[in-house]
Amino acid sequence: MNVGSNILNNFLHENLTDLKAKGLYNTIEPMESANGPIISIGGKKLINLSSNNYLGLATDSRLVDAAINAIQTYGVGAGAVRTINGTLDLHVKLEEKLAAFKHTEAAIAYQSGFNCNMAAISAVMDKDDAILSDELNHASIIDGCRLSKAKIIPFKHADIEDLRAKAKAAKESGLYKKIMVITDGVFSMDGDIAKLPEIVEVAREFDLITYVDDAHGSGVTGKGAGTVKHFGLSDQIDFQIGTLSKAIGVIGGYVAGRKELIDWLKVRSRPFLFSTALTPGDVAAATKAIEILMSSTELHDKLWENGNYLKRGLKSLGFNIGDSETPITPCVIGDEQLTQEFSKKLYQEGVYAKAIVFPTVARGTGRVRNMPTAAHTTDILDQALAIYEKVGKEMGILQ
Ligand code: PMP
Repeated sequence: MNVGSNILNNFLHENLTDLKAKGLYNTIEPMESANGPIISIGGKKLINLSSNNYLGLATDSRLVDAAINAIQTYGVGAGAVRTINGTLDLHVKLEEKLAAFKHTEAAIAYQSGFNCNMAAISAVMDKDDAILSDELNHASIIDGCRLSKAKIIPFKHADIEDLRAKAKAAKESGLYKKIMVITDGVFSMDGDIAKLPEIVEVAREFDLITYVDDAHGSGVTGKGAGTVKHFGLSDQIDFQIGTLSKAIGVIGGYVAGRKELIDWLKVRSRPFLFSTALTPGDVAAATKAIEILMSSTELHDKLWENGNYLKRGLKSLGFNIGDSETPITPCVIGDEQLTQEFSKKLYQEGVYAKAIVFPTVARGTGRVRNMPTAAHTTDILDQALAIYEKVGKEMGILQ
């Protein structure tokens, strides 16, 4: 056996031991089922309230058929990066559909949402620039900002006055060639929606580039078209980012925007140039999902109906469900350990809902994050609510 570097071995051992001692080492339990409303883990059936498969499209037979047909025609891999010979007509069709879906001139697809943020921010911003970033933005935005080498200026979450003051200071300093403002469209831990009209106003005042990552909004807000559409701002936002991995049910990420922006990303964004293209099956399935979303709001409506049903149920039991404006339903417990314990008990009783604690959310605001989907039935949600009531009472969280 290759024993490798002692320095590395010591580093790994010490740090893993430390994480385990602090109870921060996350173990992963594989599912033996699809990621639907009921999942199976280690032979145990559980009500699933943890996935981002918002519309249930990950298991939709129309997407499955589209993927199978594409695989039969094109095979399982694209075979190269997009700029060598990995671009299939399927990729072009997907990008045309995405542009239509987001009401923009053009779009470009990437291999994941994470990849997309790494790609897009660093293709436009550099060390002479500054980025105003909401403090609760997703990790991939933070990493994309870091990669760009631009000065990162965080602003308080959804605080427009703080954003305006920092934009003014950055502009008046004369230090930066370009200044960008970046926000999630929907914040995934609390379910709140970014104040885009106010952000756009600040952007106009100080000539900021606007960048909205709507990973959790596409398919969910704006009757399915996303948060930018929800506010009627499709012609006001420079970068509309989305993923194909959440409501769309597959995998991938994209930027939708003006044609010249997309042309630039095609020649300058590194994951497009240096990482193999999305597979034919994924592309065909994602295209089918966009077609479904553009032709009907049925799944969107069902998602909201289920979200409201779960929220009403938890609230009437006496739980604190925060101020979510979307179907994302936090159940705020507070204390970190109590939250972990609560989530564990829910699991034992048959509900899979993950505890989210510090540092993902602020200390003392530990919560179990619930995500009903369009595929959940009222009966399943009722079963989940009965388990919530039982565990809540047993643990003294409910009276
Ligand atoms: N952006 C945001 C706001 C996200 O929440 C996520 C996923 N959690 C991503 C990007 C990354 O997307 P993907 O899973 O498609 O890589």
